[in-house]
Amino acid sequence: MPTETKTTCPYCGVGCGVIARVDDEGVVSVKGDPDHPANFGRLCSKGSALAETIDLDGRLHHPEIAGERAGWDEALDLMAQRFSDAIAEHGPDSVAFYVSGQLLTEDYYVANKLMKGFVGSANIDTNSRLCMSSSVAGHRRAFGSDTVPGCYEDIELADLVILTGSNLAWCHPVLYQRLAAAKAARPGMKVVVIDPRRTMTADIADMHLAIRPDGDVALFNGLLAHLAKSTAIDENYLAAHTMGFAAAFATASSMTFTELMDRTGLGANEIRQFFALFERTEKVVTCYSQGVNQSSSGTDKVNAILNCHLATGRIGRHGMGPFSLTGQPNAMGGREVGGLANMLAAHMAIESADDRDRVQRFWGSPTIADRPGLKAVDLFEAVADGRIKALWIMATNPVVSMPDADAVEAAIRACPFVVVSDVMKTTDTARHAHVLLPSLGWGEKDGTVTNSERRISRQRSVLPAPSEARADWWQLAEVARRMGFLGFEYTTPTEIFAEHAALSAFENDGSRDFDIGAYAGIGPAGYEAMMPFQWPAPAQEGRKTTRFFANGHFYHPDRKARFIAVTPAETERTSVDYPFTLNTGRIRDQWHTMTRTGKSARLSAHIAEPFAELHPRDARELGVGSAGLVELESPHGMAVVRALVTERQARGNVFVPMHWNDQFAAKARIDALVPPLIDRVSGQPASKNVAIAVRPFSAS
Ligand code: SF4
Repeated sequence: MPTETKTTCPYCGVGCGVIARVDDEGVVSVKGDPDHPANFGRLCSKGSALAETIDLDGRLHHPEIAGERAGWDEALDLMAQRFSDAIAEHGPDSVAFYVSGQLLTEDYYVANKLMKGFVGSANIDTNSRLCMSSSVAGHRRAFGSDTVPGCYEDIELADLVILTGSNLAWCHPVLYQRLAAAKAARPGMKVVVIDPRRTMTADIADMHLAIRPDGDVALFNGLLAHLAKSTAIDENYLAAHTMGFAAAFATASSMTFTELMDRTGLGANEIRQFFALFERTEKVVTCYSQGVNQSSSGTDKVNAILNCHLATGRIGRHGMGPFSLTGQPNAMGGREVGGLANMLAAHMAIESADDRDRVQRFWGSPTIADRPGLKAVDLFEAVADGRIKALWIMATNPVVSMPDADAVEAAIRACPFVVVSDVMKTTDTARHAHVLLPSLGWGEKDGTVTNSERRISRQRSVLPAPSEARADWWQLAEVARRMGFLGFEYTTPTEIFAEHAALSAFENDGSRDFDIGAYAGIGPAGYEAMMPFQWPAPAQEGRKTTRFFANGHFYHPDRKARFIAVTPAETERTSVDYPFTLNTGRIRDQWHTMTRTGKSARLSAHIAEPFAELHPRDARELGVGSAGLVELESPHGMAVVRALVTERQARGNVFVPMHWNDQFAAKARIDALVPPLIDRVSGQPASKNVAIAVRPFSAS
C-alpha cells in the first residue's frame, strides 16, 4: 500500500511542510503540506525536486578508515581512542566538532552535551555561524535573549515590508510567494528592497535602494535620527520599556546628510522617500538576512534595525517588527540546544555559573565548559596552527563553504585526526577524512527542526536506512559511550527530545528567557503525532506565543530593551590592485555546496554553471564579452567563471554564487577568495564585501 508521511523540507529556513508519498515500488514523490502553517501547501523549485535528490548514487554506504571499508565497531573504537588520547595528552580544547544547520535538533543536542558536558570544552561550532550568528548577537544585546519577535503572518499583515540584505525571491521562495500574494491582494501594501544588486526580489518592490555594500548602519542610523524628530517616535514606549535611546540617538544624529549619502551611495530623494514611508506607516516589518549578517559590522547592522523598531514601538504586534530570516532548516533548532561555541543548552548562558551548575547537575556530567569555545573561523585557524588534534565534521562541507577555503582545506589536510560524517562519499571535505561515517539523509532520518518563526516541525523517515548508514545522534552517543561516559544510552530520537525538553524545564522558576519547558513531557506518542508548533509552548494546549514583546517585557534583568549606539564602520575594502567588490550568495535552484541539489537535472537547468555578474560598463572596460570567461582574484585565492553581463548589477560590484565546488566546475570555489574577516561581536564571517581583481581569463 502506498504511504503518505508528513515531514519537513530540509533546505531553507522557511521550513515548509512536505507530504512524502512512497508507492508500492518504493518510489517517492512529494507535495506541499496544505496544513503546515509555514507554506499552506506551497513548495518552491527545490522543495518540489526533493524526490529527485534522494537516490543512492554517490552515497557513503559504510564506514571507512583511511579510505578502506571498515566496520562500525572498528571506526567508533578508533574515534573514541583518538579523541581520548588527544584530551589526555593536550587537554579538552585540543578536540573540536564542526557541525551544521542540517543536523536535526536531537543530533545537535547530543553533540553539544558530549562536547560541553563530558569532553569539557566548548569547541563546538556550526556552519550556522556563517548564517545568522550576527542576528543572535544583536537580539541578545537588544532584548537580553535570542528571540525572534514575530511570525510569517506579520509579513502578510504589514503595510510596509522592508527587505534588507535579503533576496527573498530566491533564498526563501515560499515566503516570497506569501509576500507577493499579500501585495497582490492589498495594492496599498508597499515593499522596499535594500540591496546593492537589483535581485529578482526587487521586481515586486515599490522602491529599490541600491545601497553601497555595508551601508546599512548608516542608513538605519539616519532613519533613527529622522524618526526621533517625527511624530512616529513613541515616547511612552521609550520611557516604559527601553534604555539607552539618548546615546543611540546622539550617535545616529552625529552623521551629516552628506555623509549619509556618501556612506550609503543613495540619492537625497530616495533616502527622504524611504524615511517618510517608514515614518508614516505604522505596520512595518523589516526582514533581513545574509546581506546584513555576513558582515564585519553584522551585529551593529542588526541593532541599527532593531533601534528603529524599538523607537517606534513597532515590535511584537500584528504586522510589525524586525524579522531575522535564517538560511538553514535548523539554524534555529541548534540555537535552542546550545549548538554554538558561545551558548549552553536550553538558551542558558555559558558565562553564568548558575546556568553551568544547573546544566551539569541535570546531565550528571563530570565537567562543564566554563568559557566560550572557538567560533568557526577561529576554530579552523586553530586546526591550521596545530592546536586542534582531533576534529569531527558533521553534515557540512567547509572546504567549499568556509572563507579562505584553500587555507581551510590545507588545515584539514594537515590535522592529525579528522572524522567526517556525511551522506555523500565524495564531498570536497570527505576526501581528507581519516574516518568517514555514513549518515542518514533526508527521508531517512527522524527528529525535529525549527524554522525562522520559531516553529518546530518533525522531519520523519519515509525510507529505510541505506546499507550501514546511521543517524548522527547515534554516532555521537556510540563514541561517547566508548569514551566511558554515562548518559548517552539513547535508543530513539524521542528519548533525546524528551531530555532536551526536560532540561529546558529543569529548575526553571520563570526567570529564564523562555518557558520552553512547557513541552516537557511529550512522550513517544506525542512526539510521533507532533504537529508543527511555535515554541515556547505547544499550540495544542492553547498557550501559543506567536509574537513576543507586545507587552514591552524583554529579558534583560530590568525587563527593558536596550538601544545600542552603533557607529558606521569604515567598510571600503577596494584598492588599486583589487578594485572590485565581490558579493557572494545563493541562486534559486541550488543549495549550499550542491551535494544534493546538484543531482537534479531539473534544478541544474535553471543556471547550469557558476557566473560572475558584472555591470555592462565594467565588462566593456575590462574587455569582457557576455558569457566570456573571467578570472577573479583576491589575496586569498582565485576562481574562473563565466561573465553574466547585466544592468541588475551595480558598477564596481561582482556577484558570484557560493554553491559550486571542484566536483562541478574547476576553480569555482568562490569562498577561496573570501578573507577570514569576522564581525567582532558575533564571529560571523564577512562574505558580502570582498575586494577582488577581475580580468578576462586567458588559458595561456
Ligand atoms: Fe524548502 Fe525553503 Fe523551498 Fe520551502 S521555501 S520548499 S523550505 S527550500
